[in-house]
Amino acid sequence: MNPKKIFIEKIQEKGGWVNAHAHLDRAYTLTKKNFKYSYSPLKKKWYLIDEMKRLATKEDIYMRMEKALEYFLIQGTQALCTFIDVDEIIEDRALKAAQKLKNNYGNSIYILFANQVLKGVLNDKSKYWFDKSLEFVDIIGGLPAKDYGKEDEHLDFLLRTAKKKGKIVHVHVDQLNTYEEKETEKLARKTIEHGMQGKVVAIHSVSLAAHSRDYRYKTYQLMKKADLMVISCPIAWIDHPRREHLTISHNSITPVDEMVPEGIIVAFGTDNICDIYKPFSDGDLWIELRVMLEACHYYNIDHLVKIATTNGLKVLGLDKNI
Ligand SMILES: [Zn+2]
Repeated sequence: MNPKKIFIEKIQEKGGWVNAHAHLDRAYTLTKKNFKYSYSPLKKKWYLIDEMKRLATKEDIYMRMEKALEYFLIQGTQALCTFIDVDEIIEDRALKAAQKLKNNYGNSIYILFANQVLKGVLNDKSKYWFDKSLEFVDIIGGLPAKDYGKEDEHLDFLLRTAKKKGKIVHVHVDQLNTYEEKETEKLARKTIEHGMQGKVVAIHSVSLAAHSRDYRYKTYQLMKKADLMVISCPIAWIDHPRREHLTISHNSITPVDEMVPEGIIVAFGTDNICDIYKPFSDGDLWIELRVMLEACHYYNIDHLVKIATTNGLKVLGLDKNI
């Protein structure tokens, strides 16, 4: 038996891979000079990329996105969602590059865009750029940790806007692999509060794995009530540095092996490619999937195929189109 061969054939039968989360506008921005930033913590990286973003022209961004997209096409990808930075540093240059990408490749692959709110959504400047991107993006992006201490306000703003505009929301949550984070739970509660069941997707939810079994399963029940879906980016967070505090023993990854049997829709994505966040990531979808199945000890081929295809279409709201 060759499980990889069986898996790949099934992916093809389903029309190809779905990469539900990426940041193509920053792909291949790693340089000899900024390579050292790769060791910086996440919250520092949010600022360390400013210099690169300030200098990037629309053409630079387009070239990166095109190069990455070509690689996904070679792998047989049917749909892809990428976040694009839209803030006072990059202004609308990534937005314009994204528009060009859609014009040139929209017939070959489903390309969806979400706005990355790296400067938050609560101050006037960030709101201005958020509004500018609103009509263009298919999906509203969120990063509550950026508005630390005001996460509720951040989520209220996103969910209210999405409801008004009839759009799906993808939110980065629980990225730091610590029981101190409870962002997935918060997102599920907010989804119910705003009546947005089935329209909200949590990206990562890694920290959930650091909590007790009782808390995890209570959260899964809540997620089901909220119809909250999940995108796991296995390589993105498997590299968390070890800490000295005692915790449940687990791998630093979305607990896919528990979520799927609980009936939660899980999709997957490659996240960053060859930048200061993930210098060695190259966007190979099989490697991404392989890391997931190994780190979660999850070998159910049919469910893995769903994660890499039809569930991806669901989290992107494309399941009705195809
Ligand atoms: Zn991301």
